[in-house]
Amino acid sequence: MQAIRTTCAYCGVGCGIKAQVTGEREVVIAGDPEHPANRGKLCSKGTHLGETVGLEGRLLHPEIDGRRTSWDKAIRLVARRFADTIARHGPDSIAFYVSGQLLTEDYYVANKLMKGFIGSGNIDTNSRLCMSSAVAGHIRAFGEDVVPASYDDLDHADLIVLVGSNTAWCHPVVYQRIMAARAARGTKVVVIDPRRTETCEEADLHLALRAGSDVALMNGLLAYCSDNGIVDPDFLEAHVATPDRFWEALDEGCDLWSTAAACDVPPSDLLAFFELFARHERTVTLFSQGINQSIRGTDQVNAIVNVHLATGRIGKPGAAPFSITGQPNAMGGREVGGLATTLAAHMVFAPEHVANVKRFWAAPRMAEKPGLKAVDLFRQMREGRIKALWVMATNPAVSLPDAALVREALAACPFVVVSDCIADTDTSRHAQVKLPALGWGEKDGTVTNSERVISRQRALLPAPGEARADWWIIKEVARAMGWRDAFTYDRPADIYREHARLSAYRNDGQRLFDIGHHAALTNAQYDALEPVRWGGTPFADGRFPTPDGKARLVSVEQRALDGALPKWPLTLNTGRYRDQWHTMTRTGLSPKLSQHRREPMVEIHPLDAEAEGIAEGDLVRVLTPQGDSVFRAQCSEGQRRGEIFTPIHWTDRQSSGGRTGLLPRASVDPHSGQPGFKATPARIERLAVEWRGFLIARSLPAAVPATHFTKVRVGQGWLVELAGEGDPAALAKTLLPRGERVEIVDGARGGLRIAVLGEGRLSAALYLTRNGRLPDRDWLIAQLAAAETASSTELLAGRPAAPLPDRGAIVCVCFDVGMKTILAAIGSQGLMSVEAVGAALSAGTNCGSCRPAIQRLIGETREAASA
Ligand code: SF4
Repeated sequence: MQAIRTTCAYCGVGCGIKAQVTGEREVVIAGDPEHPANRGKLCSKGTHLGETVGLEGRLLHPEIDGRRTSWDKAIRLVARRFADTIARHGPDSIAFYVSGQLLTEDYYVANKLMKGFIGSGNIDTNSRLCMSSAVAGHIRAFGEDVVPASYDDLDHADLIVLVGSNTAWCHPVVYQRIMAARAARGTKVVVIDPRRTETCEEADLHLALRAGSDVALMNGLLAYCSDNGIVDPDFLEAHVATPDRFWEALDEGCDLWSTAAACDVPPSDLLAFFELFARHERTVTLFSQGINQSIRGTDQVNAIVNVHLATGRIGKPGAAPFSITGQPNAMGGREVGGLATTLAAHMVFAPEHVANVKRFWAAPRMAEKPGLKAVDLFRQMREGRIKALWVMATNPAVSLPDAALVREALAACPFVVVSDCIADTDTSRHAQVKLPALGWGEKDGTVTNSERVISRQRALLPAPGEARADWWIIKEVARAMGWRDAFTYDRPADIYREHARLSAYRNDGQRLFDIGHHAALTNAQYDALEPVRWGGTPFADGRFPTPDGKARLVSVEQRALDGALPKWPLTLNTGRYRDQWHTMTRTGLSPKLSQHRREPMVEIHPLDAEAEGIAEGDLVRVLTPQGDSVFRAQCSEGQRRGEIFTPIHWTDRQSSGGRTGLLPRASVDPHSGQPGFKATPARIERLAVEWRGFLIARSLPAAVPATHFTKVRVGQGWLVELAGEGDPAALAKTLLPRGERVEIVDGARGGLRIAVLGEGRLSAALYLTRNGRLPDRDWLIAQLAAAETASSTELLAGRPAAPLPDRGAIVCVCFDVGMKTILAAIGSQGLMSVEAVGAALSAGTNCGSCRPAIQRLIGETREAASA
């Protein structure tokens, strides 16, 4: 069977995939060697996409108030409630909250309905949380939201500076490309990040700067460039407008010593970075959420762009500032104007742009001003000003900051519609109407990745149940509201052609985003569309899309972030795990991906942990002024003193705690409205529990009455980590299924072990202890799938009679290779390179996501040997 070429569902790298459909809901995934973004490579998440296309947890039919209904009734209800709300309260009483998971065609239709027909700017997207500071920074500097770089630049750069980016985990294929360039041509790599992440493993230099001091760092670099003749006066004169007193402002507090103090880094390291920058004209500064997700995000973006403009390192091969996006189609959303602050086709709310779009759409009620940005939108909703909300393909009850406020807002909103492929999300619990949308693997349309490459996402599988494409759902609501003639699309190609036409409409070279040549694509040409980058090499001719054709230096100064405060002595940083994606609705279905991190951890410096009486593996409550949540302690020298880190993925669906979304404050950047997820004042305390343990089961119990629990998918079932107070024996009644039981009670240690057999096979096992050891989970998990049931003695002991080697935590999920196996091989065979480990154990030889981890283990072994 011929493979179908499509695009990965996850991050903004936008890797091409070749998918073979091998069964009813079975897909075999491989990288597409012809796709320019990845040239055949995939990371662990992309590699295991095939494990996530089942129908578990899917929303398959429309529902009103929790009861199945027809599409016709659901659409008519949504249209009527929206129309009534507009009539009574005006267009601004309605809001759409959409997603970088939508395809460009879905996004286009949603934006058109809201801004051109409902007549409000109140459509914002979860991309607001991801890269809106980059959008605002680009518009301030270039006049248009243009990313002036491509992945090819990484191949040509002599120096790559990674700022606020754990690239090895969050954009693994880009990281591998950087490492390949480094191996081939000795590219220097500098990482600027408060945490020592796996991205630092192969870096020439890591600057562990104080959280939020990036403006000071970049201003210090700019001052150094000015003092040492690195600034390009000809480029500045010809192509850049410089504000009054721009350079004079750098005379104060931007010298090496002051900058080192502001950033809390050794002056010698800082000087090493500045000298590397000075020596390498071909420099790419790649940045992501560490820069964007800050209440000073836009200034931080402009501080980076300033350096590139001042040194003329833009518009040339291997030289550019490079914002890399988190979501698969954040860039497509930017192109259609999916943010409340932009219009469509890279136009903004300037009168002539509003007039253009109004005329093009023949819009009866055109929005003339920006709408509410995400955080404000939910605040206004809680205050009762938003009366109807449509959430598409996202889960704001988890992902927005101050999630408790968001839940109050959803509860207060009189009418909530959710269109999603997942049946039960923390957000959809508040919805009166649930509309079943297609999932990845069923969708058909286009996405745009971080380097402006438009790729086709193609359907691999038929639509399940009554699920429909997002664009179809929005179109039908628009038609039911009376706008039949403006929403006549029969297929995604119809929408794409209109989008392409709008990009060229009254453009005349004013906006770089112009895909007008695609307006004439036939349906067949659209179906066969090859990945294509718009915009060529932006600014190669030194012209920028501003009225005078010049870019803008923007005066920015370092301001305090109000990180740690007396009552809140720590600063909380948040981010992603290597093998999970957002709120785990897809990656959480994959037992392979769940092996890398089975619980949400709070990473903390060992000395901070000691000061709080916290040991590795303890349960820890993280508290902020907004809320609190529970994580397991992971002591790490990679954390700065006074700073802690938690992952964003866990939700109410997988955990009683571990929800990072409850913790960040809803403070936002004044320009972009992007929340500051990276520096929240916090404190921690050890969570006292009387017992702890775990359950392994083929199916989940209806309820888990423990003080704390987290659950993850494992092969053939689930692993539930537990901790609590009171009589643990009572738990067994609730958690375990019926069946033949073997059990043992250890009165001395307050332990309890019960295995339940059904039809001769293990169906569940519960292990609890007050103060003893718990068995290794992996062997027990494997027993759920074992053809032969282990003996009762083995099950109660939690290990086989003939002991197996302890693999340790899984590092390579593709080949199930554990940390202890790798360390043993490094020690016994003297393996001193990632390649040598790969040759011996296969680890790191498939997707390569674990290569930085292997490098770290080699480094640690080397250090231990030389100590
Ligand atoms: S780097 Fe990984 S998650 Fe991102 S697009 Fe590529 S395969 Fe998907």
